[in-house]
Amino acid sequence: MAVFTSPSFTLHRQVVFCNDPEIGLRAIIAIHDTTFGPALGGCRMWPYSSEEEAVEDVLRLARGMTYKASLAGIALGGGKSVIIGDPAQLKSEALFESLGRFVAGLSGRYIVAEDVGTSVADMQIVRRETEHVRGIPETGGGDPSPVTAFGVYHGVRAAVRYRLGRETLAGVRVTVQGLGHVGMELCHLLVDDGAELTVTDINPDTVRAALAALPMRAIEPDAIIGVAADVFAPCALGGGLNDETIPRLEVSVVAGAANNQLAEDRHGAMLRARGILYAPDYAINAGGLINISYEGADYHREHALADAAGIYNTLLELFARADREDLPTNETADRIAEERVLSRWDWRPEAPRPSR
Ligand code: NAD
Repeated sequence: MAVFTSPSFTLHRQVVFCNDPEIGLRAIIAIHDTTFGPALGGCRMWPYSSEEEAVEDVLRLARGMTYKASLAGIALGGGKSVIIGDPAQLKSEALFESLGRFVAGLSGRYIVAEDVGTSVADMQIVRRETEHVRGIPETGGGDPSPVTAFGVYHGVRAAVRYRLGRETLAGVRVTVQGLGHVGMELCHLLVDDGAELTVTDINPDTVRAALAALPMRAIEPDAIIGVAADVFAPCALGGGLNDETIPRLEVSVVAGAANNQLAEDRHGAMLRARGILYAPDYAINAGGLINISYEGADYHREHALADAAGIYNTLLELFARADREDLPTNETADRIAEERVLSRWDWRPEAPRPSR
């Protein structure tokens, strides 16, 4: 199995293969970059069909965390870990204690948090073995979703100003897909600002509760893509912007919380070709990571919220550069993140500079 020559291996600094046969832990920790601070990223637990698949996933996700932190301008690097196995069958206290010992062995170069397949409770078990855990009650930041939603709200404002020339959201038509932790909080902020909302969720109870709380119109999940509006805010799962959905969009802006919204990178260009302004997912949804970066004894949510509001300016600059360089916004986001990291890399003039 190739690691150094894998297409997903770029500037990664360290990849740790963790094996605890007595407990059944097989995990990989990837540290992509620590230029601006320790590598932070969640631990994903997944029944990968092969070791190659797990390696590819952890390398790709770790790099994504570097880009997210870099673009948000916070003092963290990028890393990620994966546990190979089915969470429903393999989870145990011993498993997460074992992971904690491997994380402890990295002496703070990698900081772990929950992710797909793991929970806050699992991370509390990891914490028995290492202090290098974030996003749990003990670290003081609380649920990051409101900060994520606040950042997304400011991202929507920026996109509306840039594309529609409007300073407020009064009368702006927004469709929201997914009314979970982030989506519902975002709806509150948008309605408070005078936006007109059409929303959907696959869970009818969630929709009922949302309509009881806010003046909004609801629509079937399948119909949300075709609704004529100014902004589409994807706040459900990733991969929703693809060959099938992009031609059906009837909006000027896509700006929402979901991770990995583009099914493939090329879909950024497809949105641009249709004249739709896309707020890159990891730029607009960085509020949760910003919140984690403030965790600690002197955590104050106001600081995290103030920083998350900065997503407004980050996106305005990003949109302007994308237009200047005639690039899709997702490519511009990657470029900005890479330039920031590479400009600070501790390379020596006589040594070849890494390209990516
Ligand atoms: P959540 O699970 O609380 O909410 C997701 C909601 O989407 C659920 O109500 C679910 O029923 C609904 N949903 C799922 N598939 C749907 C579909 N096809 N159509 C309509 N609704 C659908 O999750 P969340 O914490 O609100 O996160 C939402 C998205 O934002 C995720 O992609 C997540 O990765 C991303 N994100 C979240 C945070 C955070 O702080 N929570 C931070 C960054 C990114």
